[in-house]
Amino acid sequence: MITKLLERGGDLVARADVCVIGTGAGGAVAAAELAAGGRSVVVLEQGHHWTKQDFTQREDEMLPRLFEEAGMRQTADGAVTVLQGRNVGGSTVHNLCYAFRTPAPILRVWREEHALPELTEAALEPSFRRVEQNLKVKQIREAEVNGLNRLIRAGAQSLGYSGFVTRHNREGCIGAGYCILGCSYDAKQSMLVTYVPKADAAGARIYANARAERIEVDGSGRKRVLGRVVGHAGEPYGSVEVEAQVVVLAAGAVASPDLLLRSRLANLSGRVGRGLHLHPSVMLAGYVDEPIHAYRGIPQSYYIDEFIDLERDPHRGYVLMPIAGFPVLTASQLPGFGREHFRTMRDFSKMVGLLALLHDRSEGCVRPGDSPSKPRIDYALTEEDRRQLSESLVHIAEVLFAGGASRVVAPYWTDPIELHPGDDLSVLAARGVREGEIAIASTHPQSTCRMGGDRRHAVVDAFGECHDVPGLYVADMSVFPTSLGAPPQITTAALADRTAQRILARWPRPNAARKPAFS
Ligand SMILES: Cc1cc2nc3c(=O)[nH]c(=O)nc-3n(C[C@H](O)[C@H](O)[C@H](O)COP(=O)(O)OP(=O)(O)OC[C@H]3O[C@@H](n4cnc5c(N)ncnc54)[C@H](O)[C@@H]3O)c2cc1C
Ligand code: SF4
Repeated sequence: MITKLLERGGDLVARADVCVIGTGAGGAVAAAELAAGGRSVVVLEQGHHWTKQDFTQREDEMLPRLFEEAGMRQTADGAVTVLQGRNVGGSTVHNLCYAFRTPAPILRVWREEHALPELTEAALEPSFRRVEQNLKVKQIREAEVNGLNRLIRAGAQSLGYSGFVTRHNREGCIGAGYCILGCSYDAKQSMLVTYVPKADAAGARIYANARAERIEVDGSGRKRVLGRVVGHAGEPYGSVEVEAQVVVLAAGAVASPDLLLRSRLANLSGRVGRGLHLHPSVMLAGYVDEPIHAYRGIPQSYYIDEFIDLERDPHRGYVLMPIAGFPVLTASQLPGFGREHFRTMRDFSKMVGLLALLHDRSEGCVRPGDSPSKPRIDYALTEEDRRQLSESLVHIAEVLFAGGASRVVAPYWTDPIELHPGDDLSVLAARGVREGEIAIASTHPQSTCRMGGDRRHAVVDAFGECHDVPGLYVADMSVFPTSLGAPPQITTAALADRTAQRILARWPRPNAARKPAFS
């Protein structure tokens, strides 16, 4: 049953074998597998349970509904916007459906440099297979590649750059193009329409508007999750208290370490909240002569991997991805005021975007902030990462021009650079990427509760269990030992599946002969 606590009113007091915190790519999978495996499961999700009827395709309504801090979450210095979901289904409700497995060289690094010999492709295969089947992962068909992605592909191919049309998790997509605002047609196979209903059908009790704020562990290992019933902006109403033998923390790579630090748990290594990678991205806007309506159709289907070679160097590189914005999001990312900004936005239908997403070595950290809704995020680019992002601007402009753009704008907040075919692109590398001078975004915060075999340097073991607290698991993007260097939803889901199978094997139901007593 999915209960919207805000509508039901009152407090929540419950008991279960397992309490799962969060319903995104990690939490929904863990909840469904554990419930299907016969465990009594209570799921706490701070966000609301919105469904396709609520996805109005309007930015002013959907950004506050679906995103943390209404899409305005930022690093403490304001330099990087960090986009994360805040609703039943988590960030999968507004993500863009690229569906990649963990790159083999990254798994090798995790095995060899993070003492995780168990993480072989063969060991993960059953989890990947299950997840891909449930999310209906498939190759994007040629007919589904929209004008924006065709233009980017033409540009890349004419320059001889490596790229390909990816796999995705959509079924019955009509190409409306509103993926980032939630799919009104339930075509996107997000957790909202796949694993959450699966968990519900298997008997999990799912509570929306329930924010976990502290986890306590008593002398016998029994856990209590304490929190609040919260409104759409995180304002508190009633209280939440769930008692469980096992807790699966899957609140995402910002909230999960925040919760562990607030609870003073699982941090003997001193690593909780540290090692944050963001996959930071920068973009340029190109303009073509005729309307291309880049926002229609599947927003991202082509993927340029020319500038990343994980086999050769698994620690660096960047990928290029097409990007189409909506009017308000686009306007907020482009510089200028008044007449100048109007001129930029007047050509919205002729706009094509391409972003570089960095496989970053820079490490930030998450710490509790002023309130549980607003953890503090610190992050600064290393010189080498800054250099790579600066270089990427040149390649983005090259591809846009080769694809047919007649004008490219580098959206520096002050003195944006406007380029035309034949201009010297090295001005972009020379101006470069510096925090506070150009929009930087992150849609993939990760690695803040790292997995590793050595408890002195890692928070969780190879199955996501906290080294210091038996029965407390982390099953979200925070467990990645390094930056992933690829879209992360499938890796997150597959590791969560593996964690759930481990819990089923390791934590037999207490009093298995009796029916569980629910309150
Ligand atoms: C705009 C965008 C586009 C993306 N596109 C892609 C893509 O194309 N392909 C891809 O692979 N990945 C993509 N991603 C990333 C992908 O969606 C994430 O990797 C994935 O959803 C992360 O899963 P998670 O479980 O770690 O966290 P989330 O999915 O973010 O879920 C965390 C959940 O926990 C809840 N929560 C947080 N704190 C609490 C608390 N205290 N109590 C209770 N609940 C709490 C949140 O509300 C949220 O629902 C994209 C992300 C964004 C933002
Ligand atoms: S493009 Fe497809 S998946 Fe995305 S919002 Fe439109 S119908 Fe849904």
